[in-house]
Amino acid sequence: MPQKKAVPWNKGLKGWTEGTKAGFQKGHPNYHTEESRRKIGDFNRGKRMAEETKKKISMANTGKESWNKGKIAWNRGIPMSKEAKEKQRSAHTGPKNSQWVDGRSLLPYSKSWRKIRKEIFELYERKCQLCNEQFVEKKLRDKNFITAHHIDYNTQNNDRNNLIALCNLCNVYVNKNRDFWKELFSLIKSSEIPDRYDYE
Ligand SMILES: [Zn+2]
Repeated sequence: MPQKKAVPWNKGLKGWTEGTKAGFQKGHPNYHTEESRRKIGDFNRGKRMAEETKKKISMANTGKESWNKGKIAWNRGIPMSKEAKEKQRSAHTGPKNSQWVDGRSLLPYSKSWRKIRKEIFELYERKCQLCNEQFVEKKLRDKNFITAHHIDYNTQNNDRNNLIALCNLCNVYVNKNRDFWKELFSLIKSSEIPDRYDYE
């Protein structure tokens, strides 16, 4: 019987920047900064992702310790003073809010979404689960920031198990190969990694 062989996490995937090269060309409005190009480079070579993901996969497989052990529980509220709440509310209400879309943020749905999103950011310590970069709270002009990604791509499904922290750069790329990402993120969430991601 042939020996089991480790394969890279991204085996069989097409280049993740495929079809997006126009966005990276000099002079193009979306031309990346040195920083973001470095990140994309690292990611493309699969180094950082491989290390981080392999760690999670191996932890899940050994059954010794969950990769998310010691992280804050989903439902654990972050205590906040009334003053701080009000300050935050007034600073992010209406058109000033980056999520503002023709008044839709006035719906109760949005309020809970903001809260859920914040919990997701806290849970992952504001670290992108693909490139592992950590992001501070978004300021108006920040080009790179943390987002909450819907694992099943259904933006109405705000179940905490359906959300994972990704930076805006990585979030763009998970729109391709959706089945792959959906499965990988689900597995990371449940810490159940099937053999085929490790062996062939
Ligand atoms: Zn990222």
